[in-house]
Amino acid sequence: MKIGKHSVVTIDYTLKDDDGELIDTSSGGDPLVYLHGIGALIPGMESALDGKKKGDIFQIVVPPDQGYGEYDEDDVMEIDLDAFEDPSQVQVGMELVLETEDEGEFAAVVTKMGDGVAIVDRNHPLAGMTLHFDVVVRDVREATPEEIEHGHAH
Ligand SMILES: [Zn+2]
Repeated sequence: MKIGKHSVVTIDYTLKDDDGELIDTSSGGDPLVYLHGIGALIPGMESALDGKKKGDIFQIVVPPDQGYGEYDEDDVMEIDLDAFEDPSQVQVGMELVLETEDEGEFAAVVTKMGDGVAIVDRNHPLAGMTLHFDVVVRDVREATPEEIEHGHAH
């Protein structure tokens, strides 16, 4: 069967950036299993997988607007170290969940330490990047009513 809305799809993938550097791969681990057609994957992946079938092997080039969005300088901010529970623990690479009044919770990472402040970036790590995927479709099946109700593959 072909991949369509409410297919449960199993894929193996390798993701590289524009320079061919490896970012992520399912090789050596579990393949990715997802419920198709409900926005579980980035738009560029879902549209490329639509209509494919088991055994298909192909490449996808996903521009930022079909991936994780453009990099936004406004999403880089300074936070006073005093605002942290334990300022001595704050370091570059630290992952945070920040809470704002208007937007709720979001993930961010400390990218730089300043004078009494941490520079925090809430852009997705893959924002602004063109993504190069190698994909192998391992399996396609109909979702069960329960999976459709839950909005994920079991
Ligand atoms: Zn469930």
